[in-house]
Amino acid sequence: MSVTERILLGPGPSNPYPEATLGLAAPLLGHLDPEFLALLERTCDRLRSLWGTENPLTLPLSGTGSLGMETAFANTVRDGDVVVVAVNGLFGERMCEVAGRYGAHVIRVDHEWGRPVDVERVLAAHPSPAIVAAVHAETSTGVVSDIGALGRALRERSDGTLLLVDCVTSLGGMPMELDAWRVDIAYSGTQKCLGVAPGLAPFTFSERAWERRVQSPPVWYVDLGLLGAYVRGGPGGRAYHHTAPTAMVASLDAALGRIEEEGPEAVAARHEEAGARLREGLTEMGLELFAEEGHRLSQLTSVRVPEDVDSGKVRERLLREFGLEIGAGVGPYAASIWRIGLMGHNARLDRAELVLAALRRVLE
Ligand code: PLP
Repeated sequence: MSVTERILLGPGPSNPYPEATLGLAAPLLGHLDPEFLALLERTCDRLRSLWGTENPLTLPLSGTGSLGMETAFANTVRDGDVVVVAVNGLFGERMCEVAGRYGAHVIRVDHEWGRPVDVERVLAAHPSPAIVAAVHAETSTGVVSDIGALGRALRERSDGTLLLVDCVTSLGGMPMELDAWRVDIAYSGTQKCLGVAPGLAPFTFSERAWERRVQSPPVWYVDLGLLGAYVRGGPGGRAYHHTAPTAMVASLDAALGRIEEEGPEAVAARHEEAGARLREGLTEMGLELFAEEGHRLSQLTSVRVPEDVDSGKVRERLLREFGLEIGAGVGPYAASIWRIGLMGHNARLDRAELVLAALRRVLE
């Protein structure tokens, strides 16, 4: 079956970097092959560098971003633990659901969708929670939150709370300093700004989190003790846990190599420039941006659908006539906003101009 080539400008997946696609096509290695283990180590080093962390336990998990979320809560939540979740979109909602399944006493701090996380309100929710969780880049609304401000405020207050952050749409698209921001646990996904196909969840866990981890989480597949024994090795060498998806790891490694070569600052600047042009062009067309000004993501722009326009019909025409995918909204905004991603390989001015031209034509 042949499939049509698409320009993926929705909330993810985005078109991969050519280097990532080439990485997939390299000769397949076994998951215990010394060459693969060396490549895996380099991938983990590259993730540490991009994330701005020294955490020894940093690895790509075998699953999508949601597996990162699952792993984060499964290894840290004990029955009855207070977990404060900053909810400002769909993925904060999902965090509440996942934490609750591991027995957390979840305290939600609800924000209006389209607004960033309010640090003071999160701090006021509970004096000493076991965990505070927040989404860095809310893909459902196109909003970025100041994780550094949250992390520093939490650590100033006490040493007892772990900070858990969703970086699915931020890693690879903007500067990240996890250690300086005092983040203990973070996860991402490969299909957005990292410029790889969906399938892996980069993950990192601090020494502080390791000391407090749940020893035998109820889900065997995400047990960091077992996963760590494979990724980090031990006195008896690397212990088999599950068959690592070696082709996907090679692809991620190639994309991280590409980002390293271009320079993470240059990559972030490329995302900013493309996002700024898109926002400018949408505004020139008379469209209204959804996310609060000053807190808008460059890699994912949310824009209101004009009142007399059928959101689904526009997206369908963009796909059929231009091979171009953009996203609908989700939850309460399913029909009233579009989400346009310029991520990874697509974070370019030509992609911004292309989606603006196509949208202009369809809205004529
Ligand atoms: N968190 C955020 C912020 C996301 O954007 C997504 C996916 O869009 C996820 C979590 C879930 O990731 P996945 O769909 O790869 O499981």
